[in-house]
Amino acid sequence: MHDKLDKEINAFPTAKLSVEHVCKDFRTRNGTVRALDDVSLTINEGEFVCFVGPSGCGKSTLLNIIAGLEKPDSGLALIDGVPITGPGRDRMVMFQEHALFPWLDVIGNVMFGLKQKPNLTDKERLEVAKYYLFLVKMDRFAHSNIHELSGGMRQRVALARSLAPNPKILLMDEPFSALDAMTRERLYGDIQDVWEKRRKTIIFVTHNVREAVCLGSRVILFSPHPGRIREQFPVSLTRPRNINDHDLADLSMQITSALKGYTAAESD
Ligand code: ADP
Ligand code: MG
Repeated sequence: MHDKLDKEINAFPTAKLSVEHVCKDFRTRNGTVRALDDVSLTINEGEFVCFVGPSGCGKSTLLNIIAGLEKPDSGLALIDGVPITGPGRDRMVMFQEHALFPWLDVIGNVMFGLKQKPNLTDKERLEVAKYYLFLVKMDRFAHSNIHELSGGMRQRVALARSLAPNPKILLMDEPFSALDAMTRERLYGDIQDVWEKRRKTIIFVTHNVREAVCLGSRVILFSPHPGRIREQFPVSLTRPRNINDHDLADLSMQITSALKGYTAAESD
């Protein structure tokens, strides 16, 4: 039994993602909004990339296209060269709201995502779930009810649930933005740790430049009306990074002024 478990836990699937000339319009009462305008992008296996930009610049739309929840009007999104046609087990999405099942306890929530693994017995699913709860430092709360947990703890459980099926790509849409600063800081450390241990391709969406620089190996700047990619910044600061670090603050200021430049140009 242990061989099978080791194999499950010690598998590190990851994927390359390509976005080619994607356009997406939404029709609203006030006319058509161009959410994405000719967006192209490549993300390599195991990269941790952050999408940054003010609200309305198409970050969530692009993430949803990669998740297979939205379809582009034109252009393509591909995983390892295969066009994305819908959601799949190779990608897991985590949102701002934890979306946990309140009728299941903590471990029950993490085990839920493992239902689709027919090769595992119930006992093995339990062991896999325990491993991921340990990874997000929630193993002590395996049998707690969801309503007993703080916001930060809920997001840890949501992270364990997203990781448990061992997807190739983890898509995170402002997962920490509803949390207080201290809780967020702890999670910044933990998510970096998880990325180093599980080697997934991660796309993390945020409107917070500092958060992006703290987490990403690359920061991709978007600007709105229409939603476009404007600039990309590699971040080579050593890990684990602390959000209060001086170099991190300097780079964040540089990126923030680039971002302000685009927004100002737009309102001219
Ligand atoms: P971000 O995540 O960067 O805040 P979004 O991708 O959510 O931006 O939205 C980009 C633009 O598309 C915005 O102007 C938004 O109002 C519009 N939009 C997004 N989703 C829809 C939708 N389902 N219907 C109408 N407009 C939408
Ligand atoms: Mg959004």
